[in-house]
Amino acid sequence: MSGNDSREQAIFQITNREPTPVRKRKSLDKIWATDVFTLNKMEDALSKKDYKAMKATMETGAALDPQVADAVALAMKDWAISKGADYFSHIFYPLTGATAEKHDGFIISESNGKAITEFNGSLLIKGEPDGSSFPNGGIRQTNAARGYTAWDPTSPAYILETRNGSTLCIPSVFISWTGESLDKKVPLLRSNAAMNEAATKVLKKVGEKEVAPLNSSCGAEQEYFLVDSNFANMRPDLLLAGRTLFGAPSAKGQEFDDHYFGAIATRVQEYMQAVEEKLYRLGIPAKTRHNEVAPGQFEIAPYYEAANVAADHQQMLMTVLKNTAKEHGFACLLHEKPFAGINGSGKHVNWSVGNATQGNLLDPGSKPNENLNFLLFCGAVIRGVHKFGPLLRAVIASAGNDHRLGANEAPPAILSVYLGSQIEEIFNMIAKGKLDGIDEGGLMDLGLSQIIPFEKDSGDRNRTSPFAFTGNRFEFRAVGSEQSVAGPLIAMNTMLADSLNWIAAELDKTVKGKSSSAVREGIIKVLKKLMKQHGVAVFGGDGYSEEWHKEAVEKRGLLNIPTTADALPHLKDKEVVKLFKDTGVLSPVELASRFEVYAEQYILKIDVEAKLVVSMAKKIIYPAASRYLADLALAASSASELGVDFDSSLIKSIGKNIKGMMKAVAKLEKAMAKDKFRSEAAHLQYCAKDIRSLMDEVRGYADALEEEVADDMWPLPTYQEMLFIK
Ligand code: ADP
Ligand code: MG
Repeated sequence: MSGNDSREQAIFQITNREPTPVRKRKSLDKIWATDVFTLNKMEDALSKKDYKAMKATMETGAALDPQVADAVALAMKDWAISKGADYFSHIFYPLTGATAEKHDGFIISESNGKAITEFNGSLLIKGEPDGSSFPNGGIRQTNAARGYTAWDPTSPAYILETRNGSTLCIPSVFISWTGESLDKKVPLLRSNAAMNEAATKVLKKVGEKEVAPLNSSCGAEQEYFLVDSNFANMRPDLLLAGRTLFGAPSAKGQEFDDHYFGAIATRVQEYMQAVEEKLYRLGIPAKTRHNEVAPGQFEIAPYYEAANVAADHQQMLMTVLKNTAKEHGFACLLHEKPFAGINGSGKHVNWSVGNATQGNLLDPGSKPNENLNFLLFCGAVIRGVHKFGPLLRAVIASAGNDHRLGANEAPPAILSVYLGSQIEEIFNMIAKGKLDGIDEGGLMDLGLSQIIPFEKDSGDRNRTSPFAFTGNRFEFRAVGSEQSVAGPLIAMNTMLADSLNWIAAELDKTVKGKSSSAVREGIIKVLKKLMKQHGVAVFGGDGYSEEWHKEAVEKRGLLNIPTTADALPHLKDKEVVKLFKDTGVLSPVELASRFEVYAEQYILKIDVEAKLVVSMAKKIIYPAASRYLADLALAASSASELGVDFDSSLIKSIGKNIKGMMKAVAKLEKAMAKDKFRSEAAHLQYCAKDIRSLMDEVRGYADALEEEVADDMWPLPTYQEMLFIK
């Protein structure tokens, strides 16, 4: 297939690869959560009193006595050492979206030369990594680099095994010496608390006697690509940027739709099973797996969990996907757009809120029109999406996700909310001030006696909506595959808290009396007002269509926010600052630091990509193309000596493309040298527009050359090879 020596070598390696040995998987009950310090394990190791205190903390976030922490620390250490761990590490989630850890030994040596292990409550509660190596967005100077990690007892500790040892991992928050959050966990916990407070207020107001603490839940569907590492290692762009910066399209792409839900290749299936086994040991409930739309693309979705735990688990899941891929000779690409022209990867964040007394408040039940709690919470989400659409757009903004959003395969960059026909109809009625019976989903009866009729969902699905109601939860579909789910969860919880606070205040005005009909009337009045102000965010049509883009912007006043450079500045909007301040989720200083960090990340990412474009064009593509040009020139002159007619059109075209590419490279290099900008916002726009378009210009010529240069002289693995050879 390929004639190029290194590519040929890679293909040889792949086709003659010894499969990674697979063990027969132990049954789920033997491996489930074996590496997690679960409540069950605590029950065996702690006194009854301490266990009860820990259980209350884990289940409802109740405050924990430091003495209990001491007992837990001791039990945790004994368990960890019995599992072979000799190190412990506070695991935290800095603003880069990564997972960070600093390892400390359990061991200390005594003066008598003996080594003993030590771990106590204070070591468990607080760690002190060097904060200066993590971005803080101006919260503190590097000479005042103190940063603390503090144990989050609501997310269970676990053991991470590597080939040569094991580490006890303690999920933690990360804060500055001055007490500001430098991470994604603190605001997530605070957003949950704000939502709980507001939701409790509303539920009490509408007559609920008993209201248990509310928690948000999250189930995230993770898409990813697998490429054989023999190919990935030959591509500096995949290694350093996680996506291909060059590459002509393959003759066959995804047009046949033959990969989606197709049979999973054995090698991939073995990989998936190995991933699942590791996840099960870590107590992560991996539930579904399937091929995705693009060749080489797959999805994994765990069962949903409490948002804080789900967010930690999601970070672990990404690490496990990547590490296990290496063991199976794959590179796992989590980038939102590894291949141009091929579907990108997203992470659908399924989100709901509920508690032990009222259940899932986003579950409409069989009679949604009579389920007032549901209508209130669903209405609160509608208001949130409308009022804070730009914030929702900003929290999913990244250099990678810019390639997906608005690109007709992924949700548009306009935030609207899809409810499904039945719920939309109910809210339309509410907007008119009345609420009668409605069509129910009904039974799906195929008229085939052997197929048992089943109940239909109350609404269809809409793949073109960025934010969709899917039966008993909302699904934020515009999140990027590489992103932490914490940002979106924080935004959703906080906007919900804000809406519920507004609803509570409105109910005070509209509910006249305690009877259920008075409450019902009051609720409908509030929702009617809500729909009048925010109903424009509800949209059930085709989100990809041009009419929608026009209507959304011109008639409905929704914002179309195409790039990260356009989105991030919305973090500074007055309403957004007020939202986070009023709910106590982020102080203005903490919010401002987030803008700084995310802007810097974006600029750095594009800078790395631009540097790679320059170096790959000069050092890989230019040499290959000019060598081939020299060959052709030689052939042409021999032909003319022999008096043979020679087609020299390719010579001309290659010459032109090389020249065009090098000119574009020179322009890009010059553009990259610019280092003075009016503002950070101007710098962002410069990256999004000027630098990006010059990178595209270089690529245009380079990809044209790939289609012209002899296959045996092309040094980079092709799209066809990377996508189809496994
Ligand atoms: P689909 O691809 O059809 O959207 P999947 O089953 O792949 O659905 O993923 C749906 C995700 O939503 C899973 O993680 C699932 O556990 C999660 N989920 C289901 N119900 C809820 C809920 N009430 N709240 C939050 N997440 C939920
Ligand atoms: Mg989904």
